[in-house]
Amino acid sequence: MAKKIVAGNWKMNKNLQEGVALAKELTEVVKNPNCGVIICTPFIHLASVAEVVKGSAIELGAENCADKASGAYTGEVSAEMVKSTGAEYVILGHSERREYYNETPEILKEKVELALANGLKVIFCIGESLEEREANKQNEVVKAELAGSVFHLTAEQWKNIVIAYEPIWAIGTGKTATAEQAEEIHAYIRSCVAEVYGAEVAAETSILYGGSCKASNAPELFAKPDIDGGLIGGASLKAADFKGIIDAWG
Ligand code: PGA
Repeated sequence: MAKKIVAGNWKMNKNLQEGVALAKELTEVVKNPNCGVIICTPFIHLASVAEVVKGSAIELGAENCADKASGAYTGEVSAEMVKSTGAEYVILGHSERREYYNETPEILKEKVELALANGLKVIFCIGESLEEREANKQNEVVKAELAGSVFHLTAEQWKNIVIAYEPIWAIGTGKTATAEQAEEIHAYIRSCVAEVYGAEVAAETSILYGGSCKASNAPELFAKPDIDGGLIGGASLKAADFKGIIDAWG
C-alpha cells in the first residue's frame, strides 16, 4: 500500500515571521495524523521552520532546487543546501515553474537527479492544461512528463519519488477535478508506473492529487483507491484549513 500523504505548498506566500508562526501553529494542532504531513516552504523559511517542526509529526520540504550542483550560479539554491537545512523533500516540476520559469523536461531531469543524489525525496508534479484536457490528451501529457524526467530512474531511486497529479485548470481556480476524473487519471498514472517498474512498485507509489483541494472535497477525493493524498496550495496557508484536509484521513 502506498503511503498516504498531505503536503502543503506555500508557494510565494508568508514572510519569515509569518511562516514560522504558521509552522508553530501546525505543530500544535497536527498530532498523530493518519498520514504523512509535509510542508513545503520558500527557501528562506527552511532553516527556521526545520527547528520548529523538529520532533513533530510534520516533515519539511522545499518548493524547488537548482539544476546545478554548486558554483557560480548567482541566486540559485542547490539540492545540497536544501538538504542541509533539515528539509527531506523538494517539489519539482510544478506547472508554475514549467510555465513561468521555462523548466523543461531536461532541466527537471537534472533537478530530480541532484535532489535524489543529495538525499532528498522528490514530489514530482505532472498535469495537463485546460486545452489538453478538452482535446482529451491528458493521459498522453502525463505519460510524456513522466517519461521526460523520471522514468529513467532505477527502481531503487524510484522509492524516493512521490507523484502529484495537478491538472493546471484546477490550480488556484476553485475548480477541482471531480473525484471520478481524478481517480481515472490516477489509475492511469499508476498503470504507467507499473509498465516501467512493475505492479508491486506501482502499488507502493504515492500519487497525490493537487488543484483546489480543500477540507470539503478531500474526503471524496481521498476515498478513491488510487488517490493517496493531496498537494495543497491555498488551503495550506491556514492551520485550520490544512488540518481539515489531514483529518480527511480519519
Ligand atoms: P491550490 O494549488 O491548492 O491552491 O489549487 C495546488 C498546487 O499548485 O500545488
